[in-house]
Amino acid sequence: MSSKYLTALQQGLSPEQRLEQIVQHGMCIGCGLCESIATSAKVQMQVLLSGFDYPVAKAALDHAAMDKITAVCPGTRVEGLPAALVDDGTQQDDVWGAWRSMYYVHSAEPDVRHQAATGGQLTALALYLLEEKRVDFILHAKAHSEHPSFGEATISRNRADVLQASGSRYGPTATLKNALEVLQMAEQAGERFAFIGTPCDVSALRNLARQDPRVDELCQYMLTMVCGGFMAPAGLKTFVGSMGIIFSDITNLRYRGYGCPGPTTITTKDGSEHSISYLDFWGEDDSKWQLPTRCKVCPDGIGDAADIAAADTWDGGAPTQHEIDTDLGRNAAVVRTARGEQLMEQAIDAGYLVRGAALTPADMNRFQPHQEAKKRAAWARFEGRKAAKAVVPDTKGLRIKRLWQQNSSEQNAAQTEGAKLRAQRAIELDTKLK
Ligand SMILES: Cc1cc2nc3c(=O)[nH]c(=O)nc-3n(C[C@H](O)[C@H](O)[C@H](O)COP(=O)(O)OP(=O)(O)OC[C@H]3O[C@@H](n4cnc5c(N)ncnc54)[C@H](O)[C@@H]3O)c2cc1C
Repeated sequence: MSSKYLTALQQGLSPEQRLEQIVQHGMCIGCGLCESIATSAKVQMQVLLSGFDYPVAKAALDHAAMDKITAVCPGTRVEGLPAALVDDGTQQDDVWGAWRSMYYVHSAEPDVRHQAATGGQLTALALYLLEEKRVDFILHAKAHSEHPSFGEATISRNRADVLQASGSRYGPTATLKNALEVLQMAEQAGERFAFIGTPCDVSALRNLARQDPRVDELCQYMLTMVCGGFMAPAGLKTFVGSMGIIFSDITNLRYRGYGCPGPTTITTKDGSEHSISYLDFWGEDDSKWQLPTRCKVCPDGIGDAADIAAADTWDGGAPTQHEIDTDLGRNAAVVRTARGEQLMEQAIDAGYLVRGAALTPADMNRFQPHQEAKKRAAWARFEGRKAAKAVVPDTKGLRIKRLWQQNSSEQNAAQTEGAKLRAQRAIELDTKLK
């Protein structure tokens, strides 16, 4: 069921226009689940002129199909951890949500720790789950075979597969494009799997679980990374151009890894490699980073609904040059569910992960000030978008209204006004371009 606001906004639109509106209003994150729900004969992810990979209606849709899409799309619905997974002993933090334990952790294998995005927590968990036969496969993302700056969904069944997918993909990544096909495959083969994806991907999968019981039966764990958003394709093109590289010459792009965070490394057609420091790529205060609209107003960059979330651990949200030179890589693990806690303990006992000191929500705010700020601003930004008659996701269990109440009225008014103006401008521009 959509909120009254969303229902009113979609009033009088055809099913195809309803899909288009989510994209035009900047709420599509490109997870691809709508293609899987509607089938690729009707909805297909396509790389548009903007460089984003977005869904396009290829044949007539009906309202029932669009209702299904609206119910699972993380652009229209985001919920916190399902009540059934909030076990006894779970603590609650207004910013960081449900948590049972938080601590430093890294892969016990030096090579994995070095290669992975941060300390290899997610890669080590995937290796443990496969090698100890706890699941049959991992659904996650690796570098895209055709678009070197993108990620794409992949199924890992062994160590080589998992290692190939380690690291962060900061480009469009449709991890759920084949979600229903994966469920069907697992069901038919009697297989179980674990999922690793962004918080939006986890939201989408949790949304799907409310519609399709196979998700909870077959997907044993949902693991995520704390996510500040991916790089908008136009921003990446500008940055690459400023390095004197022709975008279409890129054959491989590794955003980070091989160090913590490690350099961004671009390989071009002539075989040459261009390495850029993480600080030059992001800007010391994220100033070079251009985010998609959905990421700017994200109500859940912290993986509220996952069993476990993995994060970076630099004070202030970015590494110093000294840290870039010396950090061997260590994650902050935010363990939210009893089954996530059990998995972490088992992976530590089996020698896949090394646990460090305990952490608290205050430490997480220190490591992730951008996440705290975004969570606190989300409700005010949604109010602004509503004033501009722009799509906002229905939310539940994310505490964003409570956080809004804790802000000063000046802070909230500034966020609301800014979001309203940006949404108005974006909708006007889009209408003019049509
Ligand atoms: C879009 C994006 C935004 C991020 N923002 C933050 C942030 O705000 N704060 C922070 O601390 N860290 C952020 N990170 C970095 C990173 O996720 C963390 O450092 C995290 O701790 C994982 O480290 P790891 O060493 O365990 O990962 P690894 O062991 O290298 O494993 C990474 C796993 O994530 C999967 N994966 C990578 N990219 C994607 C993607 N785009 N979609 C779906 N699955 C993917 C891979 O398949 C792999 O299984 C972001 C990463 C991404 C992809």
